[in-house]
Amino acid sequence: MEKHELAEELRKRQLEKAEEFVRSINEGSSDKISVQQFKDAVNSCSEDEIIMSYLICSGCGAPILSYETDVSVMTIASKSIEEWFGKIDEAIAEHTNGHQGGQEGVDRV
Ligand SMILES: [Zn+2]
Repeated sequence: MEKHELAEELRKRQLEKAEEFVRSINEGSSDKISVQQFKDAVNSCSEDEIIMSYLICSGCGAPILSYETDVSVMTIASKSIEEWFGKIDEAIAEHTNGHQGGQEGVDRV
């Protein structure tokens, strides 16, 4: 899969699910955004920004993968977006396991 195909597919999903995303963003924030503002922001993001938005850890805010190496390799190796999400999910699971291992008193599973 080419990077621009992935980015456009992810952008399409974000626009389709805009109402859902806006609801969850507004839940945790005092600055409310409208669905239209969200869509405008999605449309003005570059391809790299769209892809990276899926790769930031919601727990610690760190990027889960290094964009230039891991993500490019995964994108080229993936035949479909479902396959890409599968690889990303594995990386996220590995990353969040690391969190638990880093906390005192929590046994690493
Ligand atoms: Zn994290």
